[in-house]
Formats: sequence, structure tokens, C-alpha cells
Amino acid sequence: MNMNRRQWFKTAAGMGAGLALSELGVNVQQVHAATKGMKLNGTAEFTSACNFCSCGCGMICHVKDGKLINLEGDPDHIVNQGSLCSKGAAMSAVPNSAQRLKTPMYRAPGATEWKEISWDEAYDRIAHKIKDTRDKHWKTTEMDGDKQMAANRTDALAFMGGAQNTNEECYAFTKSMRLLGTVNVEHQARL
Ligand code: SF4
Repeated sequence: MNMNRRQWFKTAAGMGAGLALSELGVNVQQVHAATKGMKLNGTAEFTSACNFCSCGCGMICHVKDGKLINLEGDPDHIVNQGSLCSKGAAMSAVPNSAQRLKTPMYRAPGATEWKEISWDEAYDRIAHKIKDTRDKHWKTTEMDGDKQMAANRTDALAFMGGAQNTNEECYAFTKSMRLLGTVNVEHQARL
């Protein structure tokens, strides 16, 4: 039987604990199944991705009463196949942190303080700024040597994607940027 170092440690530790409990007359398999069920009882499960680096490792998360109570590597994820590095394994501190921002913050020009605004207000402000920028810097034509060519684009907008975006999201982002008239689409992991 082939076994790597990690599997050997896991098996040896499991056998040791299993043998000790079996000697006391405990059905180890039943105890293991029961405790696993208890830990995740009443939780909602969803998948997510680690946001610490460009690998984008997949995670399985369990939430109870609005709080993340369990986080582990997703064995079905193509990138990490169940493993997480120490940063990813410690990510549960982020969503449960009291310092985490949950609403958009706005600092008016010249102001020194940030204030909370609603998501609707934030979306409105962003949409208006994109529209104004696009209108102000729209090029209908440009010169190619001494020939005037149709352009219909703007160089004033750019889009930055991230490693956690799915293929489907990236497709939608790229289409949206083409509709806005910019070819400036970048990815954080390339920088
Ligand atoms: S778990 Fe580690 S390697 Fe994976 S995305 Fe997070 S920081 Fe990067």
C-alpha cells in the first residue's frame, strides 16, 4: 500500500486513539459520526473562497445564528482539494471580527470623517460617477497615422478583477466592460 507522510500520520494517530477507546468498549465509529453531527447541527452550509491571496482556495463554511462556526478546506475544489494554508485556516477571524465593515463608508471631499451610507446610495454614487466619466472622456474617433478612424471607446475607465472570481463572473465582467467601452481589464494576480 502506498501512503504519503500526511496519510501515515493521520492513520497512526487515528489508530492509536481508536485502539485506546475500543479497549474501553466504545464504538469509535458511532462516536465519531455522532459528534460530527452535533457540531454542525442546525447550521447552514455554503461554499466560499479564501480572500487572502491569488490562489483562491475553496472553503466549506457553516453558519449558525448569523455567526461562522466552522470553516474548512473544500475537498471538491479544483485548486486546493481540501487543504488550506495557515492564513486560510485562520480566516474565520475575519467575518466574526467586531472591526469588520458591513456598510459602505463615504468621506465627502474636504471632510475628515467617514460616515456610513446605505448600499442604495453607494450604488447610485458609483453609477453616476461611471456615467459622468464615460461621457466626459468618450472618443468617437481617433487618428491612425493621418487617417481618422472610428473609435467609440474611453481610456478613462478600467476594471480590476480578482482571483476569487469565477469563470462566469469574469465573463460577465468582461462583457460589461466592453459595453462601457473600455479594453482596460486587469487581474490582481498579474500585478
Ligand atoms: S488558503 Fe492560503 S494559499 Fe489558499 S488562497 Fe488562502 S492564503 Fe492563499
